[in-house]
Amino acid sequence: MSRKGYAEIKQQIDTIQTEFHGFGNAVAQDLMRLHHLLYTMLDNDGKLERIVCHSCEQEVLRPKLDNLEQSDDCPNCGKDLYKGKQTSIEAWDNDEEE
Ligand SMILES: [Zn+2]
Repeated sequence: MSRKGYAEIKQQIDTIQTEFHGFGNAVAQDLMRLHHLLYTMLDNDGKLERIVCHSCEQEVLRPKLDNLEQSDDCPNCGKDLYKGKQTSIEAWDNDEEE
């Protein structure tokens, strides 16, 4: 391939990369706006649960909605949000049965 041809392809790739980068940023910003809007709406309706992770002590926000499956894994550290906590009635009952 000639030097000129190579330079043209390089230029095109650079253009695509720049455009793709801009597109990715726009999508990410849109998602963040949507996320913020959704959680603000949930918070206003009292449907937002604030849990402090027992492992990393980060505050985790979870929607309190019926029929929504929830994971007890912390989104920050990946560990169980409630692990080590023996304050819930369920956990207490389980201990008594043993
Ligand atoms: Zn955590």
